[in-house]
Amino acid sequence: CAGAPLCEGEVNVNVILRCRPPSAQEVADHAAQVLQCNEAQREVHLWQSTACKSRVFRFDQVFGPDSTQAKVYDSAIAPIVEEVLGGYNCTVFAYGQTGTGKTYTMEGGPREDAAKLSAAAGVIPRAIKHIFDAIESNEVTDSIVKVSFLELYNEELTDLLTQSSEDRGGAKLRLLEDRGSVVVQGLEEMVVRNAPEIYTVLDRGSSKRRTAETLLNKTSSRSHSVFTITIHMKETTPGGEDVIKVGKLNLVDLAGSENISRSGAKDGRAREAGNINQSLLTLGRVITALVENGVHVPYRDSKLTRLLRDSLGGRTKTCIIATVGPSAACVDETASTLDYAHRAK
Ligand code: ADP
Ligand code: MG
Repeated sequence: CAGAPLCEGEVNVNVILRCRPPSAQEVADHAAQVLQCNEAQREVHLWQSTACKSRVFRFDQVFGPDSTQAKVYDSAIAPIVEEVLGGYNCTVFAYGQTGTGKTYTMEGGPREDAAKLSAAAGVIPRAIKHIFDAIESNEVTDSIVKVSFLELYNEELTDLLTQSSEDRGGAKLRLLEDRGSVVVQGLEEMVVRNAPEIYTVLDRGSSKRRTAETLLNKTSSRSHSVFTITIHMKETTPGGEDVIKVGKLNLVDLAGSENISRSGAKDGRAREAGNINQSLLTLGRVITALVENGVHVPYRDSKLTRLLRDSLGGRTKTCIIATVGPSAACVDETASTLDYAHRAK
């Protein structure tokens, strides 16, 4: 059933929780810690009110404040990249309140040396390195790795990589549907030849994002970004036959989950929030439908889910990394992130 959007019995959604360490400010303020991670039990305890009882949430994996980027990658993401190298489509989402570590998890913190991974490198550079290591080992005889990077803001798609002169960060891309698959018209796909090149791509994407933010008055916490790696691999079977495999990995840094609760008013800002609400809500519904297996999956209700349709459900793996902060100041947002992520189980 390769390519079928939904296949019974094969739905595979993993939900993991990551709590960031307290920030310097939180440490200086002696902010109360309301979250306790138990990695071995794969559960977190949240103290939401003054009551001394905590609420307990269980996940497929839990990463506490001390967990390194390498550990998160090796235990949660590497198995997904192996699937992609096997020719499947997979998606990793970072979901959580602004400031809880979505971008840190996906892209990483400051880097020291472009030639090798720094300890703070996130999922994107680690996945690229993993892919090139696999390709350079003898398993794959011939391959091409392409990446694209786009932003979804206010239900509009923008290419973060194109350098065409008429594009100042404002050109909108259209989604075209062709017999069940979705194509983003005109989206730039860059060929990456080696792992360090990925940093050029990431830098180009983030500087374009910043320019667009200033020019168009965007607020980054309201936008989703989708980084897609496509691998075309030619392999020779023991019988001497050539086989082409294509695998695709989507790495999605979602809009801040605090946007989900804002809605109602009629001005521009509220409309933006309403649209993000739509994409995040629809994503939640799509995942719930996939987990329930066999019910209607409302892919068409948002751009994000239309875009990712061939990589959600069916023979794919999906991983949601829910990110939270440890402190009392954001306890209500933390509770709603835990509830959202927990529902996906
Ligand atoms: P978001 O993308 O969810 O808004 P960021 O990734 O920008 O959040 O993280 C907010 C701040 O916290 C950044 O300064 C980031 O470097 C830091 N941070 C987030 N997660 C971690 C972590 N696990 N370890 C160390 N610092 C982190
Ligand atoms: Mg961010």
